[in-house]
Order: sequence, then C-alpha cells, then structure tokens
Amino acid sequence: MTRQQVAILIPIYNESGNIVALVQAIERVIADLTRYDFQLLFVDDGSRDDSVAQLEVLAAADPRIGLIELSRNFGKELALTAGIHALECDAVIIMDADLQHPPAYIPEMIRKWEQGYEIVATKRTKMDRQPLLRRLGSNLFYWLLNSISEFKMEPGTTDFRLLDRIVVDALKQFTENNRMVRGLIDWMGYKKTFIDFEAPKRHSGKPGYSYSRLLQLALNSFMAFSLVPLKLAGYLGVFVITAFGLLLMFMLCDRFWLGGRFGFTPIAFVIVTNVIMNGVVLACIGLVAIYIGHIHTEVIDRPLYLVRKTVGLKGRSRNL
Ligand code: UDP
Ligand code: MG
Repeated sequence: MTRQQVAILIPIYNESGNIVALVQAIERVIADLTRYDFQLLFVDDGSRDDSVAQLEVLAAADPRIGLIELSRNFGKELALTAGIHALECDAVIIMDADLQHPPAYIPEMIRKWEQGYEIVATKRTKMDRQPLLRRLGSNLFYWLLNSISEFKMEPGTTDFRLLDRIVVDALKQFTENNRMVRGLIDWMGYKKTFIDFEAPKRHSGKPGYSYSRLLQLALNSFMAFSLVPLKLAGYLGVFVITAFGLLLMFMLCDRFWLGGRFGFTPIAFVIVTNVIMNGVVLACIGLVAIYIGHIHTEVIDRPLYLVRKTVGLKGRSRNL
C-alpha cells in the first residue's frame, strides 16, 4: 500500500531569521509520524532578504523540500494560492513561517484528519499577545462580517489548518483575485473541527502585514462575501422616502385640515420635498447596486456548489 502524502505549505516574506528554526522544528515533529510521506513546500512571496538563498540550500540538501519563488510580493493569500495550485497530495497543512503556528500541533491535526475531518482548523485561545488595536479590529471584523454575510466565520481561527485533498481540489476551482483563503475555506462547508492553541510571539523579524493591508483584506472579505454594503444606499433611500414622505403627509394634513396649527412655513415644504427627492436618488442607486451585485457574483465565478462524493457515477466530482 502506498503511503499517504502530506504537504506542509508555508508562505515566506522576509523570514530569513525563522527558516532554519522552522525547518528544524518541523523535522523533529514529522520524524515520529512515520506512516506518512511529508513534503515541505515554501512559496517565496518576493522576499528582499536572503530567504530564497537559504531555501535553495535547504532544498538542495533535502528532496522533501520544495520552493516556488514568485516574481514579486503578491501578498500571503496569493502566495498560498500558488502553493495550493502546485500540490497533489492527500492532505495539506498550511502554516506561517514565524513559528507563531507551532509545528507541535501537527500530530493532533493529523489524528483529527484520520478520524474523518476534512478541515482541521486552529483557534487562538488567547489573543493577549496581540496589540489592543489589532484585537479590537479583529473582533469588529468578525462581528460585522457575521452580521452581514450569508455564512459564519469562526472568530479567532487562523490560517494554520490541515486540509484534506477534497478541500484542496475545491480550492483550485476558485478563480477570484481578491481572496481570503481562510474565508473561502469557511464558505465551503465540509466536515470541520477545531484545535485550540496559544499563538506564541513571532520567533524573529517583523510582521509583514501592516494595518492598511489588514484593512484591505477585511474590505475584500466584506465585498467577497456580502452584497449588503452595495445595497446600503438603497436601504437608506427607502428609509428617507418613507420617513420624510410621512412627514410631508402630516404637513399637508396640517395645512388643509388642521388649519395650520403647527405653522409649517413654505420653506419647510421645499426642504422636505427636497429630502424626499434625495431619497429617490439613493433608492435608484440601490437599484443599480443590485444589478452591479449580480455582475459581481458572475464575475468572481465562484463554483456554484461543491461535491464531497458521488455514488455510482464514474469520474471525480469536478467532471460531473
Ligand atoms: N507573508 C507573505 N506575504 C506577505 C506577508 C506575509 O507570504 O506579503 C507570510 C509571512 O512570511 C508569514 C505569514 O505570511 O509566513 C504570516 O505573516 P505575518 O507573520 O506577517 O502575519 P501575522 O502573524 O501578523 O498575521
Ligand atoms: Mg506572524
């Protein structure tokens, strides 16, 4: 019987101070997992330090180590995507290079996979080590996204995940450019479980994600998973028309039946009519937004559905 292949996929952006320590830590852990064939795939995301040189030396010495070097910095999400596209194995473990995702959890992830889970995600138990602004931002992000999108993203989960082959094959079908890999995985469904872990501090170097890039990632997720922001103008328009329409009716009643007891001046009528017209404009923008929403969903061309398995059909789900 052939042994199962497990790949460890690691995006690299200026991680020269971490690579050797990381590879040693991973090798220590996988040495005990003799039932599997491991490979380490590094994707260099346009590092400007000597990360690539270090990885080339490691890859030359160990056939289990592979490297994809991207032409420039595309961001972690696309670096991961490049790795996913290149891999053909039974499971992939995604992890960061800075040892904030401790390799010591790998055996437990594999155990859960053996139990039949298709996604084994990790969840931070403590965010204390993160700066306050980052923690607040993260909480706000999950709250907003979960209130407006049609599926739930578990707060505190990280990219440190094991994905079964079926999930990796599914990921290969996604064509969108602005993506958050973790969000897409949560969108998919499949059998999922969580492992709690405490994220240590970065082993060496500075985080590659600035606040502005995190904000960009958050905005991408809102736009990718919800059309609510697009429809906000429309909702606001309908609200303005209703509220100010009622007010105008009241003002007219006052003028013609109550004998002007409230004394609305002609200018008040002009203002209220004007606000209603603004409401009409907003509502029309909302209508246009619905059309743009349809175009948006068609353009990102996400798979319409994903299949776990078929019974009594030849070929794989992709060829259905
Ligand atoms: N990373 C990357 N491209 C980037 C930024 C980061 O491939 O543009 C990699 C980085 O080398 C690390 C992982 O993504 O392996 C997580 O990055 P970081 O530690 O900066 O993120 P944080 O821990 O702050 O979420
Ligand atoms: Mg980190």
